[in-house]
Amino acid sequence: MEEHYYISLDIGSSSVKVIVGEKFHNGINVIGTGQTYTNGIRNGCIDDFDIAKQAIKDTIKKAAIASGVDIKEVFLKMPIVNTEIYDEKFEIPFEGTETEINGSHIESVLDGIRDLNDVPETEVIGVFPMKFIVDDLHEVSDPKEMVATQSLKVEAGVIATSKSLLINIIKCVESCGVDVLEVFSDAYNYQSILSPTEVELGACVIDIGEDLTQVGFYERGNLVDADTIEMAGRSITTDIAKSLNTTYDNAEKIKQQYGHAFYDSASDQDVFSVEQVNEDGHAQFTQKELSEIIESRVEEIFFEIFDLLQDMGITNVNGGFIVTGGTSNLLGIKELLQDMVNEKVRVHTPSQMGIRKPEFTSSISTISSGINFDELLDYVTMNNY
Ligand code: ATP
Ligand code: MG
Repeated sequence: MEEHYYISLDIGSSSVKVIVGEKFHNGINVIGTGQTYTNGIRNGCIDDFDIAKQAIKDTIKKAAIASGVDIKEVFLKMPIVNTEIYDEKFEIPFEGTETEINGSHIESVLDGIRDLNDVPETEVIGVFPMKFIVDDLHEVSDPKEMVATQSLKVEAGVIATSKSLLINIIKCVESCGVDVLEVFSDAYNYQSILSPTEVELGACVIDIGEDLTQVGFYERGNLVDADTIEMAGRSITTDIAKSLNTTYDNAEKIKQQYGHAFYDSASDQDVFSVEQVNEDGHAQFTQKELSEIIESRVEEIFFEIFDLLQDMGITNVNGGFIVTGGTSNLLGIKELLQDMVNEKVRVHTPSQMGIRKPEFTSSISTISSGINFDELLDYVTMNNY
């Protein structure tokens, strides 16, 4: 059998990440990764084309070397920026002809939904089936191999984003000499990190990165809504730099080394010294003092998320809160949120060797999305390696 690899590209505001994986039983084996820190991305979008391009190129090269796979095509993750999520229905008729449904029928009915979009300047980047209806009778989650004579109907969720945002990201990626095979929105991707119970009861995923805090809400097996707040790790570092009178770069190091998001658990014994701006010498601070700065910003982010959920009309999060992304490396972040809500809280870190850091959640879940659609449409997209 030919080897078949799934490669994802996550262009993040702090770093570009590539994962080369392969399907393994019901999971994913990670073969290799690449990561490059960059200043070319702001708020999940290309800010400086050349700097971003170089970072993407370098990351692909690193992942190719680490995995030994020649990377020609990638699954591109799209941030939840300028993104709309809505429901749509579509039907293909069989007019009495007995038809065994296969992947290409599913593809046509999903393409039909895609073509319904008539909002100018937007592009559909995701159509996820919620249920299929065969001959107006049977509701199924996967109609493959069933026989229909009348019709195949689908009720689907649609994810649309700004055309110019999409065009520019794709242009940047393709200028690096790789093709974008398919695009998957994080709004869809995050579902793969949820347990069946969480996604049934109603769970809220919170990915706190560098510039963006992305929020997705999932219930009864599907994405309900998603949105983004432009406040994340960078705001925390900026606060630290100001309060401790030091440079941004020093503040970033201090945050990662001593940071704590929950004042009550932070240590007043753990002392560190900080180089001062415009003054000779250093000043001493404790982790507890540092945690006061961090806690108030992270709390602000969580309060904004509660407002967002309220705007979405979501009142019950019975499946709990799942926090992930680079900023969830912060000690005490789970305790802080648990102090603010009654529902269960957990921090999600991917389990595969080599990517056991919460910042890899988006990239690995992009691969899960690729596998989901391959299975649904019954084809293997990358067989030319
Ligand atoms: P975005 O999703 O906002 O576009 P990104 O995907 O590049 O950006 P991530 O890689 O998820 O972001 O996370 C990067 C952020 O995580 C940075 O702000 C960084 O400071 C923060 N971070 C990483 N490790 C730690 C740590 N140990 N403690 C605190 N913050 C951390
Ligand atoms: Mg990110």
